[in-house]
Amino acid sequence: MTELATYAVGGDNSRGRKVAEDAPKGRSEFQRDRDRIIHSNAFRRLEYKTQVFVNHEGDLFRTRLTHSIEVAQIARSIARSLHLNEDLAEAISLAHDLGHTPFGHAGQDALNTCMKPYGGFEHNLQSLRVVDTLEERYADFDGLNLCFETREGILKHCSVENAKQLAELGERFLKDRRPSLEAQVSNLADEIAYNNHDVDDGLRSGLITLEQLADVPLVATHFREVRRAYPELPERRVVHETIRRMINTLVTDLIRQSENNITSQNIATLEDVRSAPALIAYSPSVNEQQRELKNFLRTRLYRHFRVLRMSAKSQRILSDLFGVFMADNRLLPPQYQRQVEFDRARAVADYIAGMTDRYAIREHRRIFAVEEAPV
Ligand code: MG
Repeated sequence: MTELATYAVGGDNSRGRKVAEDAPKGRSEFQRDRDRIIHSNAFRRLEYKTQVFVNHEGDLFRTRLTHSIEVAQIARSIARSLHLNEDLAEAISLAHDLGHTPFGHAGQDALNTCMKPYGGFEHNLQSLRVVDTLEERYADFDGLNLCFETREGILKHCSVENAKQLAELGERFLKDRRPSLEAQVSNLADEIAYNNHDVDDGLRSGLITLEQLADVPLVATHFREVRRAYPELPERRVVHETIRRMINTLVTDLIRQSENNITSQNIATLEDVRSAPALIAYSPSVNEQQRELKNFLRTRLYRHFRVLRMSAKSQRILSDLFGVFMADNRLLPPQYQRQVEFDRARAVADYIAGMTDRYAIREHRRIFAVEEAPV
């Protein structure tokens, strides 16, 4: 790792772990966090969870696992350029979607609706819940006992109501303070990853077309340049070359603008970072371009009737499951029944949120399909 900037998270300014542990040998605290995340059950399940396209729709589409790996790659590049803690940025990125429900945002919305009378469901908070309590792997503590800064980065958003329950981790949402630069980097790397891979997946699926993308400047400019430089190149390679240039534009602009922000705000310490406005940012013109791309994806891809049909189906699956487990918790697997004594709705939500797409579909069939014999 290159030498860390004074405002990066390092060993000295870390707030450490909830349960004190001996320092790791041969690796940093944040490498240890990353390693624990990769070995978790929730991480392996990401392979079978929807990003936009449901897992069984095609082998080439992103899943939450490949999405998280792309986020980590982008976050590490940016962190290294800015002399930030690359291991921390990587750990946050790999963990950021651990609490995601099956079926992407449709699943999250469905579970949130079911959970409305019981405190709601937020996927960021659920990711934190996974690493703080739900993973059962270590002898000395529940969860993964990650460092404060990793947990802080995982909790990207949080309602005021929930922030009040979270002690020092919720503080920044109540006092309008910022997380570490590594957390800010990982947050924007998430956006860069999905905006770009959703163009790729959207084109591959045929739900969006290159003609439509001609109205989106960030895509159109690079696309024209690639076409001009390589007139004979087959379309799939033109698309890939275009996306690679888009990612490069966003990443290099983000690095340059963030460096300027750090300098102009005289940032010297982690404390300065926390009290300053968000420092990791695009330049105004690139920000506008990426906003246009986002809008395009929202209207043309995420609200495409075929995506909405799948969303409607998955919302029904999750609310059916929620209803049946709430009505009779004896149908829950034994390890979730223990938790029912404390908070039935939360136990059901934990069980459902942990499901992969295909597990949820199978579980729904097991409970609701009359023709299916084995339970
Ligand atoms: Mg994400």
